Amino acid sequence: MLLPPPPTLSEHIPSGAPVRLLEDAKASKERFYNNSTIQEKPRDKDDDGLLPVLPPDITRNAFNNAIAELTKSLGEPNVVLTDKPLVDGWYLEHPNTHDAFHVHSREDTISSATVYPGSTEEVQTIVKWANKHLIPIYPISMGRNLGYGGAAPRVRGSIVMDLGKRMNKILKIDGDNCSCLLEPGVTYFALYEAVQKSGYPLWIDTTDVGGGSVLGNALDRGVGYTPYGDHFGNHCGMEVVLPTGDIVRLGMGALPGKDNTDNPTWQSFQYGYGPYSDGIFTQSNYGIVTKMGFWLMPATEHLTFAITFAREDDFERIIDIIRPLSAQRVLGNVPQIRHVTQELAVTGIRKKDIYAGDGPVPEQVIREHMKATIYGDVTWIFYATVYGPKDSRNTSIDVVRKAFSVIPDAKFIFPDDVPPDHYLHARVAIASGVPMLTDLDWLHWKSNGSHLAFSPISPVDGKDARKLYEMVQKRHGEFGFDMMPAFCIAPREMHFIDIICYDRGDEDEKRRAIKCIRAMIADAAKEGYGEYRTHILLSDQVAATYNWNNAALMRLNETLKDALDPNGILAPGKAGIWPKRFREKGWEILGDDDRTWTVPGKI
Ligand code: ADP
Repeated sequence: MLLPPPPTLSEHIPSGAPVRLLEDAKASKERFYNNSTIQEKPRDKDDDGLLPVLPPDITRNAFNNAIAELTKSLGEPNVVLTDKPLVDGWYLEHPNTHDAFHVHSREDTISSATVYPGSTEEVQTIVKWANKHLIPIYPISMGRNLGYGGAAPRVRGSIVMDLGKRMNKILKIDGDNCSCLLEPGVTYFALYEAVQKSGYPLWIDTTDVGGGSVLGNALDRGVGYTPYGDHFGNHCGMEVVLPTGDIVRLGMGALPGKDNTDNPTWQSFQYGYGPYSDGIFTQSNYGIVTKMGFWLMPATEHLTFAITFAREDDFERIIDIIRPLSAQRVLGNVPQIRHVTQELAVTGIRKKDIYAGDGPVPEQVIREHMKATIYGDVTWIFYATVYGPKDSRNTSIDVVRKAFSVIPDAKFIFPDDVPPDHYLHARVAIASGVPMLTDLDWLHWKSNGSHLAFSPISPVDGKDARKLYEMVQKRHGEFGFDMMPAFCIAPREMHFIDIICYDRGDEDEKRRAIKCIRAMIADAAKEGYGEYRTHILLSDQVAATYNWNNAALMRLNETLKDALDPNGILAPGKAGIWPKRFREKGWEILGDDDRTWTVPGKI
């Protein structure tokens, strides 16, 4: 297939791939298109036979008038109706109209239009317009939150506010303070290139794939793999447009600097004075963040390595060995232990090439194929990094070797042991803040490969890890999905990231995927495990599991929502928080609800 080249990162295309990864991007794009079988379909029209689909409770006439008014304020190119065919694209050319990894009908969680503000003032204009017309708006930065809903609004027909396209400036890189100030459209790729260009010896922290928004990921409380892997924990200062249109600066930014400049300590001290409000703007629908500060890590030396384990039975012991190494910061980053199926998938192997059956690939088949790889016949692979000068790294490696010496077949593999195109080198890059594309490769396990992530928090304890693993194994078996779990280990908890890789071209598979994840959320909650983050379609169910004291947390969340957003215009339903106007009208989707449309009453 002859495909146009992928977009390259530039001032005009801030969401593109950096030149250093252009060949990887080309190969990745080709794989995505070769692995796609989805045909374009005519759009489903709204009830009146027209497009775009309307937001709830508004006539077409009123909507058209409201859009004309907004177009006059923002300019024609900055208000685009969602009335064309929906295209899923691929990672670097993704849609901002719907979820590229749809789990319901592709037509379900879609927008009526996308708007592109160019400044904080234009964000205010849009918010005030939404209040006037009672039209819900859904802010995204890059909209690459794949596996959690992508760019899709929770309420069908909302206006997607795409901040990334025009608000993508790196406002400041401060080499002395080791910090930066960013707009929503700055990707890990863009920040990395800018820091390199600045010449400061600083690292960024990146997610597995580098095209996401630094700000958007921190707002969803995403994680990376350097010692600065807690993205929200390493932010410092925010500017937020509230749902009524007011603008607030948080932390030291609330105190004007001399001559009304930005406060010089805005990116130095997180708390400022008074209640610390930053957290309420994460995983919420209380405000639109237009600027956010982040700390950058002073560059250091590092060594990333893999340890492979042959015997499944050693799993609990492995986790228990990692706990003190992580707590004592011998392992200075967020190390992760991955199941072998994901490891095989990241080599680009497709399920259909190795197994013709319907259900999960039998373990013997996976292991047989692993034999041909450098890691060999193993069940778990642990990726970790030690930081600092050579002497201290060597000391740390000795401590790690000693700790794992009780597991006889634990095998250490260092970057020099593998060829340059081996996946271990991608882990080396990511553990030192160099954003990559490599982790897109495991998506090709399935045709039209897409994923949902089930992400509970676990204590760093072998018994808990085993319990969660078996819970997931049972449900994956029941619903016919391969196991692709990874545990990302912080000193006191683990993010258990279980991937359901599904074919979004197969309606039955999509139904099974969502049933599988709903069952796992319920199973986990019964045992006291809760998700750290979830897909927009699952947020009501997950929010309902955080129900201590008769759901006191949701009562607090709703009190805040009603106070901050009295007209309920901002991202209704996000994180399970519904404004009064929508509450208990059939929008909530709880665990036992297997509807395939989000709109109440639509079947
Ligand atoms: P990324 O592309 O980095 O994965 P997204 O743009 O998809 O991030 O955003 C992740 C989540 O954070 C989405 O649920 C989105 O609604 C929310 N979000 C993103 N940017 C903002 C913002 N500037 N203000 C408020 N919420 C935001």
